[in-house]
Amino acid sequence: MRKFFFLAFFPLIIWADAHIFVYHRFGDSEHISTNTSLKVLRDEFDFLNNNGYKVIPLQRLYKALQDGEPIDKKWIVLTIDDSYKSFYENALGIFKEYGFAFTLFVYVEASDRGYRDFMNWDQIREAGKYGEIGLHGYAHHHMVSLDTDAIKKDTEKAAASYKKELGSDPKYYAYPYGEYNRKVRRAIETFGFDLILNQNSGAVDGQSDRHDLDRTALTGDNTIEHKLRIRTLPTTWIEPKNWPKDGKLKTIHATIPPNIKNLEYFVSGYGWHRINAKNGEVKELLNLPLKLGRTRIFLKTGSRQSSIILVKE
Ligand SMILES: [Zn+2]
Repeated sequence: MRKFFFLAFFPLIIWADAHIFVYHRFGDSEHISTNTSLKVLRDEFDFLNNNGYKVIPLQRLYKALQDGEPIDKKWIVLTIDDSYKSFYENALGIFKEYGFAFTLFVYVEASDRGYRDFMNWDQIREAGKYGEIGLHGYAHHHMVSLDTDAIKKDTEKAAASYKKELGSDPKYYAYPYGEYNRKVRRAIETFGFDLILNQNSGAVDGQSDRHDLDRTALTGDNTIEHKLRIRTLPTTWIEPKNWPKDGKLKTIHATIPPNIKNLEYFVSGYGWHRINAKNGEVKELLNLPLKLGRTRIFLKTGSRQSSIILVKE
């Protein structure tokens, strides 16, 4: 998702899209849906090296977005959620071997309380010598189900432990489960993070919203090569913005660049359908009863896409 004012600059934009990827576990075949095998990890890293991609620190992308610098389409940012022990034990050495920057998003309570499957603070400090460390909430709540006070308390607690253990304030936040809505975003924004990251598959260009950066998961069937083809579709989502109270998705309504006429939309549980745009506007009455508590909605034309997530409150 992005800021509204891009339309004014649209004719000047050179399309260029960096990609932010998210990993979870490594070399841990007991958890297939969130795992990346070490063979696949090396294959992905080799692919990046052999095809001219540049793995940059998240800080570098932040600086470019902040300064309005051009975004290099060969830029790659690698992030890891949840600070599982398998990152430390199996993958950190491979990141070091390739010299690839990363940002590790820490599930703070797991480290504070010494949960078995997660990195302790010594290991996080060690990883921090080679990469950046971000915040992934304290108790890894489904934030959408909490009220604003509880969201802020969880984040305060996480930031306080982070500072005590690492000696600085966190600069980046990634939503637990990638779940958020307007209420969650507003609560997290009060902490002044440089960047807030979601888990909507997409890409990043110069107009991307620093408080709503798309990340694409690098698990599942599609290869990194396939996922690198995704480009941003500059979209301002007007409807829906939140989970509808009666569970029915009434309308898809968004603005897109005016030269785009033919698109497809996707709603979880309903597949892909054609949709037409007129004068930079997409609007379709649907009245669909939502089937999944986490519903993803995509707009796509060719390789350009934009997506949002709706989470039942
Ligand atoms: Zn997580």
